[in-house]
Amino acid sequence: MIKTIHVSIQCPECGHTEFEQPDNVQDDDFVKCHGCGFQIMLADLKEIGVEQAKEIVIPEAKKEIEKMLKKAFKGRLK
Ligand SMILES: [Zn+2]
Repeated sequence: MIKTIHVSIQCPECGHTEFEQPDNVQDDDFVKCHGCGFQIMLADLKEIGVEQAKEIVIPEAKKEIEKMLKKAFKGRLK
């Protein structure tokens, strides 16, 4: 059975975020982009998702870390 899932991962081809996947999909199963029909292994799609998440999260995490470091250094300089 094929069902459509909505994921927060964007299709590397068209940026669509809905994929068709078999029931009980495994990491080595292929899922199909609903937008352009691009097929990708679930494991690869997950990896792309991790990369996409990093691009969003890292700049924000960096800011927080810089703030923390500044605070820490201020405390020591006094
Ligand atoms: Zn697509």
